[in-house]
Amino acid sequence: MYDRGLTGVVIDAGHGGNDSGAVGNGIVEKNLTLAISEYMYNRFKDLGVPVAMTRTMDEELTSSNRPQRALSKFGSGKDVIIISNHINAGGADGAEVIYALRNKSTLSEAILNSLAIEGQESRKYYQRRLPGNPSKDYYYMLRETPNTEAIIVEYGFLDNKKDSEDLKNNYKKYAEAVIRAVMNYKGLKYTPLLTDNYYVVKSGDTLWSIAKNAGISVDELKKINNLVSNNLSIGQTLKLDKPVNADNSISTNTSEYLVKKGDTLYSIANTYGISVSDLKNANKLNSNVLSVGQKLLIPTNETTDNIYTVKKGDSLYKIARDFNITVDELKKYNNLSSNILSIGQVLTIPSNETIYIVKSGDTLYSIANKYSTSVNKIIELNNLNTNKLSIGQKLLIP
Ligand SMILES: [Zn+2]
Repeated sequence: MYDRGLTGVVIDAGHGGNDSGAVGNGIVEKNLTLAISEYMYNRFKDLGVPVAMTRTMDEELTSSNRPQRALSKFGSGKDVIIISNHINAGGADGAEVIYALRNKSTLSEAILNSLAIEGQESRKYYQRRLPGNPSKDYYYMLRETPNTEAIIVEYGFLDNKKDSEDLKNNYKKYAEAVIRAVMNYKGLKYTPLLTDNYYVVKSGDTLWSIAKNAGISVDELKKINNLVSNNLSIGQTLKLDKPVNADNSISTNTSEYLVKKGDTLYSIANTYGISVSDLKNANKLNSNVLSVGQKLLIPTNETTDNIYTVKKGDSLYKIARDFNITVDELKKYNNLSSNILSIGQVLTIPSNETIYIVKSGDTLYSIANKYSTSVNKIIELNNLNTNKLSIGQKLLIP
């Protein structure tokens, strides 16, 4: 993946203090821009991206102070991104991105496309020139931050009823959309929030193969993602309408089974090596009566905390090989005297993971780097449901 280079991202919460910005429909611009900016700051930090804010409280900044603060964080190189967050007013709807005269529109377009995927209509991306000197930018955050890639993002119109409701309900999703666009633009690995339905394109993927795994058509996949061409690039993020696992595999936690004549809950559970109660729970069944043609979801045996449940067709040899240990180790660890396994039997898998205690300044990304592993592997091994770490927290390292 081509890395365009990124020195750091400066997040600028528009307005502040006596300058409230636009006000309407229950939104005060300076407060919402700060909320968006705080969200972005934390997420970029989690993603291992150097990030800073121009203001972290309800504070008024002058038109010279604000760009100065922005430049004081990572300097004014071309690989510094400055995102100035704003909410629009003036009787229209949709999102706008304004980019500097010195820059290309690529990032602005990517941001609007990403926002559109989250349901926010894109209005336009544009440049604006100073009337008295058309070689200069109209907006001081673009004009007074030379060399950097500076943009102003207007997330929507607060004087528009629909936009204002969307802004209140979805501002985190919109902030995440901008983050995703920046990560993709810079060719950096983006780790979605675990509740998200985002898939990161890997080498060898095609629209067809991804759509097939997601159980939708290529047309549907293109529509969800506003794609106009069939070209994919590695590292690109695609939204699916089903969950994507932390390791970027498309979720196959459950499979479907159509009930045949003669089936019982017991026979089906036995076939899949699960318990009748798991089967009933997965399908919210109150009774044991099945009808032919009925669809059942089959929960799969998941390996969590080094516990493995024996499935039909398993052998000690196969399990040992899958977990990269020897049959002797497996037997010894589980006090097994024979090689015979029964379906549903629970085995503990020995492992030699390291325990790491989180220090101040650590991120999942920095820890993964240190141990030459991936953020996703750490998340999975520790069953984390957030990227946030707390100091003193113990993590198993694969
Ligand atoms: Zn504003």
